[in-house]
Amino acid sequence: MSQVGTAAQPLRVAIIGAGPAGFYAAESLLKRADLTVAIDFINRFPTPFGLVRDGVAPDHQSIKAVIRVFDKILSDPRVRFFGNVTYGVDLHHHDLVAYYDQIIYAVGAQADRRMHIPGEDLPNSYPATAFVGWYNGHPDYRELPLDLDVERAVVIGNGNVAMDVTRILVTPPDELAKTDIADHALERLRASKLREVVLLGRRGAAQAAFTTPEIKEFGKIPGVDVLVDAQNIELDPQSAALLEEDRTAAANMEVLRGYAAQTQHTQARRITMRFLTSPVEILSEHGHITGIRIERNALVTDANGSQRAQGTGEFEVIPCGMVLRSIGYRSTPIEGVPFNEETATISNIAGRVIHPDTADDNAPTMVHPAEYVVGWAKRGPSGLIGNNKPDSVATVESMLADLPNLAGIDDAHRDPAAIVSLMQSRHIDFVTVQDWKKLDAYELDRGKAQGRPRVKVTTVAEMLEVIRG
Ligand code: NAP
Repeated sequence: MSQVGTAAQPLRVAIIGAGPAGFYAAESLLKRADLTVAIDFINRFPTPFGLVRDGVAPDHQSIKAVIRVFDKILSDPRVRFFGNVTYGVDLHHHDLVAYYDQIIYAVGAQADRRMHIPGEDLPNSYPATAFVGWYNGHPDYRELPLDLDVERAVVIGNGNVAMDVTRILVTPPDELAKTDIADHALERLRASKLREVVLLGRRGAAQAAFTTPEIKEFGKIPGVDVLVDAQNIELDPQSAALLEEDRTAAANMEVLRGYAAQTQHTQARRITMRFLTSPVEILSEHGHITGIRIERNALVTDANGSQRAQGTGEFEVIPCGMVLRSIGYRSTPIEGVPFNEETATISNIAGRVIHPDTADDNAPTMVHPAEYVVGWAKRGPSGLIGNNKPDSVATVESMLADLPNLAGIDDAHRDPAAIVSLMQSRHIDFVTVQDWKKLDAYELDRGKAQGRPRVKVTTVAEMLEVIRG
């Protein structure tokens, strides 16, 4: 038998999930001059690009420019795309291990973290992840029963997702109409009665997770005032010292102090930023949200020397009609793959999938042979799109180091047509790169006609209609 990874026996790799981390892994594999590789993307939706399509805010089109890199990868003859194929439903773990030399799980973080407070599941209290999916035309969230007939919304969290959702809630719809925001969202936002978004950070201004361009953007939204209370952003000595080392925190503080210095607030809409507050309970009457009870916090230093929030026992109610919790994404277990509930990641060392109880330094590591993980499912839900690149390259290094030890797959399954036959025998209505290109062209054309970058198709049924039609 010739060696796997040569022209005679290309290395067959399946990448589950066609988001940024998966694409960067593919790019790294394709770049190796000494490797002959055949890559199949298996993706739940007919549309590729994961969070670049479904997560990046529509008013951040420049971030989506990375699609050009991913497009090039998709057009590589060594790469195939099988969209509209759900791992664990259409294709199973035992299928993939039988048909591929190596498998990369690039499944991201499909769920959200919870606040664990009463009222969290009331109508109009949603994870920001759902709201993001809704305005980005993610098929799962198209029907999110949002009520925008409210004057004030509260957004919990101080990360960049909280910044995105706050901005989208208050940006004039005519501005959003220049983007690829989903049509259903634009229509609803046009009719929105929202006047204020209150953004709550549990720690202080110096500890906020957002980055400086995002906090600066708030001040540039037409028709929107940004309210910050100068007293609320005063720093304790340890926070002040933090600014010496953390340039982002220092730059953020400068912007926040600028907002605090403004006293004229005349615009129709406002963003009120509050720090050192935690949600305690979402209040309601007759099933409708009426407010959120919050507790004021103080910063305390924990055993590791980092500052965390501690309740002061002082409570307050903010009247509101909507709550979005933006406190982080969360990965969920997938079929046949060990999952570490504590870290909410696929159990791995250097991208190699391992049995969970062997992550312990003293136990022998039990590797799942030929299975790997990249992106948020590997390291948790943090980092910008570009951060996935070195992370995926590191996993590919592990894959290549493991090549000499590959167990190998049945020769009959090496034929690239074999997995296609398997899917056809199961009547899986898979979508190819050409199909996606057709849908892409359709969306771009619709966009062009309206002077927008793209008009998205937001249901799988309609996507398939465009493709098959
Ligand atoms: P994130 O950056 O981890 O922020 C999570 C926020 O939630 C933090 O402020 C955290 O506060 C807070 N939080 C966590 N649990 C909480 C609780 N129980 N109560 C109150 N607050 C709580 O996560 P993210 O915003 O979901 O973003 C994920 C990643 O995507 C980040 O790396 C982000 O930069 C990136 N992203 C980037 C962009 C962009 O470039 N424009 C846009 C969107 C997302 P503590 O700090 O106190 O834990």
